[in-house]
Amino acid sequence: MIKFFKAVIIGAPASGKGTISSRIINYFDVKHVSSGDILRSNMSMNTDLGLKVKQYVNKGHLVPDELMISLISNELGLLKNNNWILDGFPRTKEQAEELFTKEPIYVALNLIVPFEIIVERVKGRWIHERSGRVYNTEYSPPKVTGKDDVTGEDLIQRPDDQPEAVMKRLEIYSESINPILDFYRKKGILKDFRGKTSNEIWPLVYNFLKNYMTPKAEFNQQIN
Ligand code: AMP
Repeated sequence: MIKFFKAVIIGAPASGKGTISSRIINYFDVKHVSSGDILRSNMSMNTDLGLKVKQYVNKGHLVPDELMISLISNELGLLKNNNWILDGFPRTKEQAEELFTKEPIYVALNLIVPFEIIVERVKGRWIHERSGRVYNTEYSPPKVTGKDDVTGEDLIQRPDDQPEAVMKRLEIYSESINPILDFYRKKGILKDFRGKTSNEIWPLVYNFLKNYMTPKAEFNQQIN
């Protein structure tokens, strides 16, 4: 067993990265570090950093590497004696290289879901705009069709969840992620997990992580 497990998790939009990450933290003693969450919390608290990054995040542009690298290095510095998985970082090859010189990443977990499946899945996605709660008519439907479980308010579909828009986002993702995947492949630490759903991918990830860490809870592969 290694001392501390440090990894990045990579996956296309709507590939189930959030679901897999939340299962990882439920079953293993691992901290989930999300670059997007850190940026959003700084923005909502109007910190110096929050004010600096707002202009990029609000337009959907990448925050400059220099800012991102110092932010993530600080965050990971606080987690020296912890296991962690980093989500949303790296977004550029420069970020991947810098991270690798600063932190001993053991593995890059790469979730691969066929793009046509993602497009189908996103078609069924409905969100509650105010809270950000996400439903899927097929996998996790609301109790009442079209209504949020907690508030009973209407659910909406996002314009960028339309099939053409999703395909475009996926193409942009492939172009930007390829240099990062190449980087980790050359280092010999890229680990691919393929499947159509998170339920298919999760047991593969779980069994892989067991090589590095003792689970907090045993995952019953028969039931799930
Ligand atoms: P996310 O929640 O990961 O989709 O991130 C939301 C937004 O935060 C992105 O659209 C970017 O503006 C910014 N962001 C998050 N992570 C990074 C990163 N590693 N590099 C640059 N910008 C980032």
